[in-house]
Amino acid sequence: MPTIKEELDRRQLLYSLLMPVMNLYVKGLDKGKGLYFLFVKSETKTPGGLLARPVLTSYYKSEHFKTRPYDPFNVYTSPNEAILCADSFQSMYTQMLCGLYESEQVLRVGAVFASGLLRAIRFLQLNWPQLTHDIRTGSLNTKVTDPAIQECMAQVLRPDPDLADFIAKECAKENWKGIITTIWPNTKYLDVIVTGAMAQYIPTLDYYSGGLPLACTMYASSECYFGLNLTPMSKPSQVSYTIMPNMAYFEFLPHGPNSSKHARKLVDLADVEIGKEYELVITTYSGLCRYRVGDILRVTGFYNSAPQFHFVRRKNVLLSIDSDKTDEAELQKAVENASQILQEFNTSVVEYTSYADTNTIPGHYVMYWELLVKDPTNFPNEKVLSQCCLVMEESLNSVYRQCRVADNSIGPLEIRVVKSGTFEELMDYAISRGASINQYKVPRCVTFTPVMELLDSRVISVHFSPSLPHWTPERRR
Ligand code: AMP
Repeated sequence: MPTIKEELDRRQLLYSLLMPVMNLYVKGLDKGKGLYFLFVKSETKTPGGLLARPVLTSYYKSEHFKTRPYDPFNVYTSPNEAILCADSFQSMYTQMLCGLYESEQVLRVGAVFASGLLRAIRFLQLNWPQLTHDIRTGSLNTKVTDPAIQECMAQVLRPDPDLADFIAKECAKENWKGIITTIWPNTKYLDVIVTGAMAQYIPTLDYYSGGLPLACTMYASSECYFGLNLTPMSKPSQVSYTIMPNMAYFEFLPHGPNSSKHARKLVDLADVEIGKEYELVITTYSGLCRYRVGDILRVTGFYNSAPQFHFVRRKNVLLSIDSDKTDEAELQKAVENASQILQEFNTSVVEYTSYADTNTIPGHYVMYWELLVKDPTNFPNEKVLSQCCLVMEESLNSVYRQCRVADNSIGPLEIRVVKSGTFEELMDYAISRGASINQYKVPRCVTFTPVMELLDSRVISVHFSPSLPHWTPERRR
């Protein structure tokens, strides 16, 4: 994405509005700190010699961020040196260590997307013995070799055996329910985006936080920052973002079943209609002209004359075997429905992706599921998981079910349960190939052979839909 220096001012403007808005709903945020897991990635050059790096890396490396004036509402536990360290282990380790040291001061815990925060929790699960050792002795893990971090941590490190014992005792427990509020007892909310593709993390975040409010504060992209949520304490399903008209020139392509080709004329920001869905089209100060971001938004209201949008989904994440087309929202709904059966086994789907397997005839949908089994003595059995396959099929659209039942052009849906930690490996793999930790999103559909090989090598059980889903010609939607 092209960008220009002055774009940083626009991003800064949007960031600067987040806390004044939050302050209307949550008081006392100036009396403590935010534990945010923020990361940079190493930079590359384009063949033409331009600097290329993820948008958030640009922001964290800018003077806007690095030399930001003191603001009691925006004090982070993570030192800049840790955020700016490109080695993700050293960066995460230091950020976690600082967050643990200041556990009493932490008032909010966050990351850019929900997946980033869960990655931090997983990191704590894997590294608490070493982290608590460091806190007990006031020393720094020898794996942290970055000189800037070492220098700044020399000011932070002190032996605190009581704190170390407390954290170690809690982390050693098998049950991590509510771990966030146990370790950071003054946390008022989690600051993470859980709208759109991130919605599936809500149950896992609720589990680890004991149901703390989830604040989705802003809506942005590499291309352009779009707007903010003026009621950040609203439930994730009710979140709307107010577009800031000064971020870019916004136009909207009507979307949905009733928008015929003729009706698909671009609509200006002020002319969108409540209840209608649109695809976002932007013309940016950095040079994109009528660029289709790929997001579908629904108008929910107006703030003065600025429309407010519910994020519906990102376009074009499709599974297709025959004439069926399954998008991300449908797949998400199907996974949600199926995972309800798992509730009585105290189990949830923490991560999933899918794949249209056309090597078999007929082809079929393959789901890769990573499960969080809270009670290992009550692991859902083959019958339950094959039932999940069927519930997923029942939840998919009528074209899919017609292909399954009437045309026999799609085979039974398959769930491959993968080992715990597999999706983290997938993320590591993506990061090793250049993805950004902050902006990483689990692909909801995979086609890249090495990724599928990785997933397949971690499969622990395989389950197929035991019967045909329901379908009659009248039920076509
Ligand atoms: P990236 O440029 O990689 O950071 O991705 C930007 C995309 O992430 C957007 O176009 C959206 O599809 C998605 N996204 C960003 N913010 C939100 C949000 N608040 N809610 C839902 N999806 C979001």
